[in-house]
Amino acid sequence: MSKQRLVVLGGGESGFGTAVLGVKQGYDVFLSDGGKIKDLYKKQLEDWKITYEEGGHTEEKVLSADLVMKSPGIPEKAEMIKKLRKQGVRIVSEIEFASWYTDAKIVGITGANGKTTTTALTYHILKAGGLNVGLGGNIGKSFAYQVATENFEYYVLEISSFQLDDIEKFRPHVAVLTNITPDHLDRYNYDLQNYVEAKYKITKNQNEGDYFIYCADDEITVANLDRYPTKAQKIPFAWDKEFAEGGFVKDDNIIINHNKNQFIMSIQELGLSGRHNVYNSLAAGIVANVYGLRKEQIRESLADMKSLEHRMETVAKVRNIEFINDSKATNVNSSWYALESMTKPVIWIAGGIDKGNDYTIMEQLVKKKVKGMICLGVDNTKLHSAFGKVVDIMVNVTNMNDAVRMAYQLGSPGDCVLLSPACASFDLFENYEDRGKKFREAVVQL
Ligand code: ADP
Repeated sequence: MSKQRLVVLGGGESGFGTAVLGVKQGYDVFLSDGGKIKDLYKKQLEDWKITYEEGGHTEEKVLSADLVMKSPGIPEKAEMIKKLRKQGVRIVSEIEFASWYTDAKIVGITGANGKTTTTALTYHILKAGGLNVGLGGNIGKSFAYQVATENFEYYVLEISSFQLDDIEKFRPHVAVLTNITPDHLDRYNYDLQNYVEAKYKITKNQNEGDYFIYCADDEITVANLDRYPTKAQKIPFAWDKEFAEGGFVKDDNIIINHNKNQFIMSIQELGLSGRHNVYNSLAAGIVANVYGLRKEQIRESLADMKSLEHRMETVAKVRNIEFINDSKATNVNSSWYALESMTKPVIWIAGGIDKGNDYTIMEQLVKKKVKGMICLGVDNTKLHSAFGKVVDIMVNVTNMNDAVRMAYQLGSPGDCVLLSPACASFDLFENYEDRGKKFREAVVQL
């Protein structure tokens, strides 16, 4: 029998990983990228003797596929995808493909906000607990590459809705849905329900022996529980509800009840601070309890976790003004949590590309906490109309150095300068990492 032809669309981390796994599984692999492939990946593709093209797709080479892996960045409306669909070629995502070739137990973590943090935290606890576990998703090597080259018994995977769009059988043993707030609606025909449906695919293939962990305070998640039924055992977490089976907060402690066992830990002891991180710690703590890790071990790991880069990361204190980098906050919901956790007067740096933001939920919080606002974007009109009434000082800037210098001038000892933009970064920066890095550099120069 001749080899099956696997065409990988996209030459980034997940495309490269899939190509390697494809070769190892005996496919005839061809990788095609409409844009440029990074030198790092080109070199590795050559090392693995994988044929590829960049700067465009050669139709006959792509349409001759038996199976296509579409990288998460490629939208459904791309010309080549339309042609493949028309021809009826099977298209899957990287996590679907990779899951065919591993028996490892998978913890799949999705949601609008908190994916990376909850994934890193869960991995941190499981690894410290002695499990042979790999970490995949936004951080480090792709799941597919690890399936090809490692031998893990567990994986903790951060999973975007784009990865879930093209699954068929993918079935995590433990699925976590952190929350659902409108995001990426441009990829979902501006219909929130389409986005909700993609997120709920995380639990679609789960069985009776599996677990579905979700936030019972999240209105959109709860409103859709019955619409997307699951066979998995559901374990909720919330702030001030109580569950015989689930996680919650009581008297400044997080409490997790599972299988007649109770885990208790003071919120003050958690390594990651802020209300949103209490949720993330609850979710990760439930996963650890499901896997029967020792309480002492879970407590220690939840306590010694360090915040991730660009997510509520304290960069420095200058003249007793604290500078916090939360560049990863690219939507309103995440910036709401950032401001909510502030205990000092805030000079807030926000702005960028707005993905259809509704700022009304932030108005009261901004009124209470923000003494000055630096609008860092090409077009700041929406910020002005949303907050002009509640913030006395608003300044427009178009580069990070000016933003940080202005914030520093407005600040007094004991204040905090918070970069938490609530917007994407592409108007002035390459990406959120670039924005956070430039913030850090500007602070160092003060
Ligand atoms: P994601 O991978 O889903 O984008 P991250 O963990 O990278 O999530 O966090 C993105 C932003 O959202 C950060 O600004 C972070 O402080 C904030 N955040 C983290 N967890 C939550 C949560 N559970 N709810 C709301 N915002 C959160």
